[in-house]
Amino acid sequence: MVVNSVHWFRKGLRLHDNPVLQEALNGADTVRCVYILDPWFAGAANVGINRWRFLLEALEDLDSSLKKLNSRLFVVRGQPTDVLPRLFKEWKVTRLTFEYDPEPYGKERDGAIIKMAQEFGVETIVRNAHTLYNLDRIIEANNNSPPLTFKRFQTIVSRLELPRRPLPPITQQQMENCRTEIADNHDQLYSIPSLEELGFRTVGLPPAVWRGGETEALDRLNKHLDKKVWVANFEHHRVNTCSLYASPTGLSPYLRFGCLSCRVLYYNLRELYMKLRKHCSPPLSLFGQLLWREFFYTAATNNPNFDRMEGNPICVQIPWDQNPEALAKWAEGRTGFPWIDAIMTQLRQEGWIHHLARHAVACFLTRGDLWISWESGMKVFEELLLDADWSVNAGSWMWLSCSAFFQQFFHCYCPVGFGRRTDPSGDYIRRYIPILKDYPNRYIYEPWNAPESVQKAAKCVVGVDYPKPMINHAEGSRLNIERMKQVYQQLSHYRGLSLLASVPTIQEEAEPPMTDESRTSSGPDSPPKGPADSEAADCSTVPDSSTVSTYSPYPDLEGAANSHPSQTPCACSVSHTQPSAAITSTAASQALYTAAPPSPSSTPTQSSLSRFKPSSPSSSSCPTMSPSPSPAMTMTQHSFLGQKRKGLVSKVRCIQRQRGQQSCTAAAGEVERRAEEEEEEREEAGVEERMEQDVEQDEERMEEETAGHQQ
Ligand SMILES: Cc1cc2nc3c(=O)[nH]c(=O)nc-3n(C[C@H](O)[C@H](O)[C@H](O)COP(=O)(O)OP(=O)(O)OC[C@H]3O[C@@H](n4cnc5c(N)ncnc54)[C@H](O)[C@@H]3O)c2cc1C
Repeated sequence: MVVNSVHWFRKGLRLHDNPVLQEALNGADTVRCVYILDPWFAGAANVGINRWRFLLEALEDLDSSLKKLNSRLFVVRGQPTDVLPRLFKEWKVTRLTFEYDPEPYGKERDGAIIKMAQEFGVETIVRNAHTLYNLDRIIEANNNSPPLTFKRFQTIVSRLELPRRPLPPITQQQMENCRTEIADNHDQLYSIPSLEELGFRTVGLPPAVWRGGETEALDRLNKHLDKKVWVANFEHHRVNTCSLYASPTGLSPYLRFGCLSCRVLYYNLRELYMKLRKHCSPPLSLFGQLLWREFFYTAATNNPNFDRMEGNPICVQIPWDQNPEALAKWAEGRTGFPWIDAIMTQLRQEGWIHHLARHAVACFLTRGDLWISWESGMKVFEELLLDADWSVNAGSWMWLSCSAFFQQFFHCYCPVGFGRRTDPSGDYIRRYIPILKDYPNRYIYEPWNAPESVQKAAKCVVGVDYPKPMINHAEGSRLNIERMKQVYQQLSHYRGLSLLASVPTIQEEAEPPMTDESRTSSGPDSPPKGPADSEAADCSTVPDSSTVSTYSPYPDLEGAANSHPSQTPCACSVSHTQPSAAITSTAASQALYTAAPPSPSSTPTQSSLSRFKPSSPSSSSCPTMSPSPSPAMTMTQHSFLGQKRKGLVSKVRCIQRQRGQQSCTAAAGEVERRAEEEEEEREEAGVEERMEQDVEQDEERMEEETAGHQQ
C-alpha cells in the first residue's frame, strides 16, 4: 500500500529530536511538511509584530533546512478544518502526523482533527515532544490530580523514569527514501507570507533582537552550555545589569516555538554536569527552570479555564479593580516609575524581559500597586512576549498575583529600590527611557524627587516631559497587602486551616520581615522568594490623582484613621526623608476606612473609583472579603489598624459563620487539597531525604536570585 504522509508543523518547528516527523517518514512513499496559517486570523489575533516576525523567521529557517534535504515547507493558507480535508484529497494522503499539544484548547482541536481524518480514512500519529514528561503520567502518579506545589511536583517527577532521550536530526537519506513532490509554482502556492501580508506595517520597524529558527536555537544552545561551564559549573550567578538585556544565550522563545527541543536541552545539561562532576548524577535542581515550565504545563493541561479567574478551580477569586486608564499607563510604560516603564518599553520593543523584570511589573500591576487583575497583565504579555506560552504565562501571573501556587503576599517589590539594586548606574533606564538619560544616578529611579534645578538641567521636568508617578507606592502596596490578607483569611477560615499562621500582623509587617523561619513556616512549597516586606514601604511617591483609587471601605475606622497624622516611611533615598506636601495632604484627605462585609462576588467588578458595596449573602461564588482601603493609608494608621484588625476579622468571620459557609468555593477546595499534598510530603520527607536536599538547593537558588535584587 502506498503511504503518503503529511506532517503538520505547529509548534515543534525543528528537524532535530522530532519523533513524530520521524514517524511521518517511516516507510512512507511521499512526505509533505505543512504549516497552516490563516492570514486573516493572524491580523485579528492578540499577537504582536515581534512574535509574528519570529514565527516567520522560524518558518524560513525550516524551509531552508528542508531544501537542503531536497524537500520544502508547504505553507497553506486557511483554517486546519478547511485545509486538511482539501489536502487529504488533493495529495491522496494516507497518514497525518503532528506533535501532541498538551493545552486544553489544542487537545480539543486535535480531537476533532483526528476524528475528521478517520472519516477520510487517514491514519493519524501523534507523539509528545513539547514537554519532558508525559503530563498525564505525572497527574496519574499524583492520585489523578495535578500537583499544585512545586515540591510535590518534583517528588512525583523524581519517581518517574528519565525523559525519553532525544532523537537525531532528520537525514538526507531518510528524506530521499520518501520523495516530496515540489511543483514549479511551489513558491507561488506555498510561500511563507510576509509581515505585510499578515496586515502589519513594517515601515521603520527596527531589526529583530531575537532571530527565530532552529539554526539560531542550536547556536544559542551551544552558547548556553558554554556559559554554564563558565559560570563556575552550574553555581548560580547573581543577576546584574547585563542580565536585564536580551542575551545570546536566552532560550525561552525557542523552547516556546519548539525550535529547540526541551529534551535536547535536558540531556545536554545532564551530560555536561556529569562530565564536569566526574560522572555524578545531577540533582533534579539542575533542571529547575525546565521543571517550572513542566509544572505549569501539568497544572494547565486539564484546566480549560487556567487563563482566567472565573471558573478556574485553582485560582483564588480576588475582587480586582477595573481601571483601564491605569492599565494602559502600565502597558505603555507611562507609570512614572522609570524602572517599570523601562521594563515595559523593553518588552514592547524587543519581546523579551528578564524573569525578575517580569516579577517587578507583574507585582506592580496586581497585588503590589495597581490592584488590577492578573488576567489583564497576562494578555499584555501574551501580545508582546516572544516566549508567550499559554500555560506558563497564566501560571506565572497567577503566581505573581498570589492567585494560585504562592501566598506570600506580604512581600512586595518596590518599583524604585528593586531596580536600583539591580542596576545602580541606571544605564538600563537610560537605554529604554532616553528622556531621562541626563538624570544623575541618584535620581534616575525617582526623578520626581530631583530638585527643580536638576530636572531642568536634565531637560526633563516631571509632570511635563515625563509622567508623575501614578501611585504612592509605599501606601498603595501596604493597603493591597492588607486587602490580600483579608482574602486569604477568608479562605483559611472556610477550610479551617491556619493558612496564615505565618502572616505577621500589620504591626509586625512594619518590622523587617522575611526571616528564614517565616519562609519555611509558610509550608513546604517555598517559591522564588519575593523581596523583603520592607520593600513595600521603602519609597514615597506623589500619586497622580487621575488614576489612584479613592474609595474607602472601612467606615468604622474612619475617625481613627483621620485622627492620625500622615507619616510616610522612607528608607530608599535621602530625599525620602521629607515626604512631599502632596503626599501628606493626599493622605490626610483620603484616609477614610469603611468596614465591608465579605463579598461573595467572584468577578472583578469593583471600579477603582467606585465605593465598595456589600454583596448579597445569597450569591454563591468565592467567599472573598474584599476590602479596598484608601491608597493614602499611612504607616501610623496601619499600626492603629493592626490593633483594630483582630476585631474586624472576627466580626467578618462571624458573618461568614452565619452564612453557613455556603459559598465555599473550588478555590478553597484547592487550598485543602494543597494542604493534603503538603501533609503527604511531610510524611515522605524521611524516606526522601536526598531528594529534599536537592529541592531545597533548587529553591534556595531561586530565592537567592530574587534576594540578590534586594541586597
Ligand atoms: C509574570 C510572568 C510571566 C511569564 N511568562 C512566561 C511565558 O509566557 N513563557 C515562558 O516561557 N516563560 C514565562 N515566564 C517565566 C520566565 O520568566 C521565562 O521563562 C524566562 O525569563 C526566560 O528566560 P531564559 O530563556 O533566559 O530562561 P532560563 O533561565 O535560561 O531558563 C531556561 C528555560 O526554562 C524555562 N523557564 C525558566 N524559568 C521559568 C519559569 N519561572 N517558569 C516556567 N518556565 C521557566 C524557559 O522555557 C526557559 O527558556 C514568566 C514569568 C513571569 C514572572
